[in-house]
Amino acid sequence: MSIFEQATHIEVEAEVRYWEDACVNGLIDEDGSRIFGREGDLWKVRIDLLDGIVQDWPAGETAEIHYKVCDQGVYWLTDDSGRRLAKWRSHYVPDDFLCHGTEGFGDYIIMNVVVGGGIEHYRTPRINPDQWEVLEIAAPPALTTHVMNDIETLGTGDDALITSIGAVKFNANGIISVFHQGIDPVNAQALGLKLDARTVFWWFDEERADARRALLSLPRHPLAVVLQRYREWYGDESLPTWGNGASFDNVLMRSAFRAAGHEMPWDFRFDRCYRTMKSLPGAPRMERSGVHHDALDDARSQALHLIDIAKHLGVPL
Ligand SMILES: [Mg+2]
Repeated sequence: MSIFEQATHIEVEAEVRYWEDACVNGLIDEDGSRIFGREGDLWKVRIDLLDGIVQDWPAGETAEIHYKVCDQGVYWLTDDSGRRLAKWRSHYVPDDFLCHGTEGFGDYIIMNVVVGGGIEHYRTPRINPDQWEVLEIAAPPALTTHVMNDIETLGTGDDALITSIGAVKFNANGIISVFHQGIDPVNAQALGLKLDARTVFWWFDEERADARRALLSLPRHPLAVVLQRYREWYGDESLPTWGNGASFDNVLMRSAFRAAGHEMPWDFRFDRCYRTMKSLPGAPRMERSGVHHDALDDARSQALHLIDIAKHLGVPL
């Protein structure tokens, strides 16, 4: 659809010489205080091109307008949302759009507005593209894609043994894609990753029954295979990559990549800390879904929570 086909309104900003050249509800508008759309020296209205209705015209009001403007006006074609699409090249009044029932010769805006905001004797004007300068319309900024990691482990040190990796790609609008793999702990241990008894016993706790079941139901693959799949899922470009704690998920993943002889898919400059974000004053609470300590369910809940936090704090993601 061309720019001109999208145009639904004309927006007027005209410097009026004599406000008394209008009658509002049958009375001369002596000091220009009665007319709708006055802002300082300007008359600012938007008119529907198809049916000639002045937008937001006050209920029950009429006006006979005969404003002298000459070259002291600016006029735009806009779409329905008010977005300016094209600007009138001349500064003189676009007659066909703003003079109805008589001639204004580019100097006058002439129209009678009836109750309901309609213009008397209105004729839908034809848009001549040569008379309008098309404006460059900025494309909305592309949303940044982020990654939220969550790992389950059998330790808490920097080189702890990872049993599963959950991750989601997301942007300010929501989740884009997910990753979830279990890791063979015997293979990971053989590559040098460490388990510690305290964390193993933490997993034994009755409270972790659902999390244990979820973990044990995952197929388990060698660490190098899982990390290779993760790299393929992640892609070639570094993305802002979040972990729950600056010192946890991303650090332990870095150790695992090193142990498996794989390169990290993101540069360290892209490390981000979700734990810091959720501790900020004014951050809303998380609404968790799924099984707590299932890596994918955690990553998903954390990403959705982060989107919510960013919205609440007015921080663009
Ligand atoms: Mg977790």
